Amino acid sequence: MTKKLDDNLNVEPLIMEKGKKGRCAYSMPKRDIENFYLNKDLKGSELNLPDLCEIDIVRHYTRLSQLNFGLDTGMYPLGSCTMKYNPKLNEQLLACSGFSKAHPLVPETLSQGALQLIYELEQYLCLITGTDACSLQPSAGAQGELVGMLMICAFHKAKKNVKSKIIIPDTAHGTNPASASLCGLHPVQIKSNKNGILVPETVDKVMDDQTAGIMLTNPNTLGLFEENILEISQIVHSKGGQVYCDGANLNAVMGIVELGKIGVDVLHLNLHKTFSAPHGGGGPGSGPVCVKKHLIPFLPVPRIIKENNTYTFCENFPETIGRIHPFFGNFGVMVKAYAYIRTMGAKYLKKASQLAVLNANYIKECLKEVFYLPYDRPCLHECVFSDKFQAKYKITTLDICKRLMDFGFHPPTVYFPLVVNGAIMIEPTETESKESIDRLIDAFKTIANEAKDNPDILKKAPNTCPVKRLDETKAARQPLLSE
Ligand SMILES: *Cc1c(COP(=O)(O)O)cnc(C)c1O
Repeated sequence: MTKKLDDNLNVEPLIMEKGKKGRCAYSMPKRDIENFYLNKDLKGSELNLPDLCEIDIVRHYTRLSQLNFGLDTGMYPLGSCTMKYNPKLNEQLLACSGFSKAHPLVPETLSQGALQLIYELEQYLCLITGTDACSLQPSAGAQGELVGMLMICAFHKAKKNVKSKIIIPDTAHGTNPASASLCGLHPVQIKSNKNGILVPETVDKVMDDQTAGIMLTNPNTLGLFEENILEISQIVHSKGGQVYCDGANLNAVMGIVELGKIGVDVLHLNLHKTFSAPHGGGGPGSGPVCVKKHLIPFLPVPRIIKENNTYTFCENFPETIGRIHPFFGNFGVMVKAYAYIRTMGAKYLKKASQLAVLNANYIKECLKEVFYLPYDRPCLHECVFSDKFQAKYKITTLDICKRLMDFGFHPPTVYFPLVVNGAIMIEPTETESKESIDRLIDAFKTIANEAKDNPDILKKAPNTCPVKRLDETKAARQPLLSE
């Protein structure tokens, strides 16, 4: 089946294709009783399983595991996604039975420790973001956006404002327009200026009394800080709107910028990027929403309240948007975030952001001679190049980034953000050493030379991976669901 599926897949065969009749992985005494079938229909039928000995099985799964690429094997500079190293200690803390065996149906009186952890984590996140309250219910960044937008809608409804639109810049994350549309708001796209950021006049032109507010990503998807955010928020507020900030990439600004103090009314964070939970791999995640005082009544319920040193869940908030997650959110992710914040402390959270920014700027400066840098100015945690210099050799972003795999790196984010043609978006993160960043830079420089001297090797890349260049859309267009 592997062969037929795609000749390109020169990998470990499926376990069903392995084995030799009569091999077995155990030795047990011969049975001395009659066969007994729970289901008579199955009598005499064979389960078509391969005959394998133990070492075949061990090697099969060990080899499969070695085909995987992850942060524990190499650098993963996927822009916007913050694939940074997460301390193993925090996983171990989560594994402590008091956390890992906590059950959401245990009464509050017996879960005080868990509730205290959630309560305190909310407070830390408010401190870090300069906001007044937080809900840890959303399970992902995009769900946090949805919750934030639902709250903005509830706020306007309570004030009897009729709003139908939301302003979204071209450098916002792709999930933003989707989240706003789900709330029935029509996204109005506006353009960033030649420096890759928003100018107040552009916002002023489209902001009217039908507009619920603005939804911007800061730092934006070009890795740039929206310097005019304070003025923009003043314009939006003066015309009755609210300011939503997508703060998924907080690792660029934590300990440095308090978004709630520069005009933002509501923002979400991705604990599964910035705060010690791995991102990718299907979760679980956590996308807490932080708000300023006037939006507190609309936060999802239940909320945790603290009275006389006792923590309880409270549903009694009449203007709430309701519940958006079974129970109270993904607790495991919260434990890791809590441990991360407590071990780092204010000083080192700030340092982490500074290093994330330093590393990205170092890459930007080292590579801008060989790859086109559309916005040549200091960046935050990521930098965006394109394949413009390589176009004359007919080499594209895809060729460049597939070739990077031959050098042992995960490719960066490609063809995003959309405002840059053929974008190559690199986010080194704060956890990579100078040595590994230098190796990445060397690999990119080698590839830039190859584009001139040996374009064929790029066109065929990856050359050394078990799976070669794939047809990117075939699996979706012609799915092979059974054989
Ligand atoms: C990752 C990301 C999101 C979406 O987060 P998910 O947890 O994947 O839903 C939203 N905005 C920005 C800026 C992001 O980087």
